[in-house]
Amino acid sequence: MTKILSFLLILWLVCFQVQAQTTLYGFNNYTQYHVGNLPIIISVPHGGLVTPAMIPDRTCGSPTYALDARTIELSRQIDTALYNLTGCRPHLIICNLRRTKVDCNRNLADGACGNINAVNAWNDFQRFIDTAQLIVQNQYGSVGLYIDLHGHGKRPHRLELGYGLFDTDFDNPDSVLNTTSYISDSSIENLVHSNVSGSTHAQLLRGPRALGTLFANAGFPSVPSQSSPTTDGFPYFRGGYNTFTHTCIAPGNNVDGLQIECDSAVRFGYANRKRFADSTARILARYYLVHRNLDLQSSCGLIPLPIELVEFSGKGIGKKNMLFWKTSNEINNDYFTVLKSADGFNFEAISKIKGAGNSSQMTNYTFEDAHLINSINYYKLQQTDYDGKSKFSRIIAITNSFSEISVFPNQVSDILNVAIGEDKGTYNISLINLQGLVVQEFKNQNKLYMANLNSGLYFIQIRFENGYIWNGKILKQ
Ligand SMILES: [Zn+2]
Repeated sequence: MTKILSFLLILWLVCFQVQAQTTLYGFNNYTQYHVGNLPIIISVPHGGLVTPAMIPDRTCGSPTYALDARTIELSRQIDTALYNLTGCRPHLIICNLRRTKVDCNRNLADGACGNINAVNAWNDFQRFIDTAQLIVQNQYGSVGLYIDLHGHGKRPHRLELGYGLFDTDFDNPDSVLNTTSYISDSSIENLVHSNVSGSTHAQLLRGPRALGTLFANAGFPSVPSQSSPTTDGFPYFRGGYNTFTHTCIAPGNNVDGLQIECDSAVRFGYANRKRFADSTARILARYYLVHRNLDLQSSCGLIPLPIELVEFSGKGIGKKNMLFWKTSNEINNDYFTVLKSADGFNFEAISKIKGAGNSSQMTNYTFEDAHLINSINYYKLQQTDYDGKSKFSRIIAITNSFSEISVFPNQVSDILNVAIGEDKGTYNISLINLQGLVVQEFKNQNKLYMANLNSGLYFIQIRFENGYIWNGKILKQ
């Protein structure tokens, strides 16, 4: 039944491209779901203050009653900050019931203690998260990020990022965290296998571009991060029911996620929350750009960034031409084709070079053309995606004075000498006047008689049997 409702909701959202924000309410408004359009899902299980008399206080399963104060306000401010930054909204799921009545971050038995109203609220909360994940999956594929937002009152003041790993796991060196057994227990396993930044599991946990490091660099100390790679023996929350149920730790789920435990410094006071919320929006946008090559500030990140050719150049080195190019982003880049031309118009493919596939790092490429006949050669690149789509670079010209062909003298009265290196095969020479007409042709000759030509400027073109064309010009006196 829930699956059918979710499907209908998706159908409705996709078909009608709802612009205004949609909010769905669960039983008795105990829960609510603000439907978003970013690949980010935020749930807030412990911030509610509503205490209906019809639900008795929980007593089963050693309950915890602690309120994660101001986390609902914080989630709304993160929602606003993301909207201000990207024009798009995260999916936001909130439980309005106080934790004494229901715990939406524990299993159903312990979270609702058998009370039917609490069961309804718990079910609504969990199903809203499932629905949000289906919508994200439908729109973005498997690049969703789920955040279960909490508050802790412990010292030191810092964010605790829970990836499902135990505090003692972080005492291991990176090489151990990068082994399969740790990766498969991690709530970002999917990202480990599919990030475009080439990051390892350990790098995603506490490397320079890990989420915790981005927070720490913005002034919000976090564990784990580059500056706090271990928990230092302090108590640490590794994630609860939601992290284990709604991230890729759960079999069949391909959404990455984590629990974020926020200290009081980022929860209390509107201005403090705003500072943290604004930073969180920027950090999440950066995270998507770096690890997913998605720009959330452009079309909500729905259109992958194309390959970005930041440089394409070349120069003659000895008897070879060297080509250099550099990309900053690559999406589905299968290969490059190097094309060469003698005249800048008619190009032929001379080599194929494998692309990086998916990468958001600078990637350098070089190609060496050792078969120069022309003094000026033109080159361009054709980039082809895995799906066969392709596009061309600009054209560059490289002059190489080591050309094996020379025609002399430049100002000729009787005999023009043509010197051609060895192994070039047969060739035809055309003399072309300024009107573009061929006035004389020669075959395999190295001394051309010019005495009977009118004085003036002529183009000389030498065509080889292998297709190479050499172009030059002379002045007949
Ligand atoms: Zn909590």
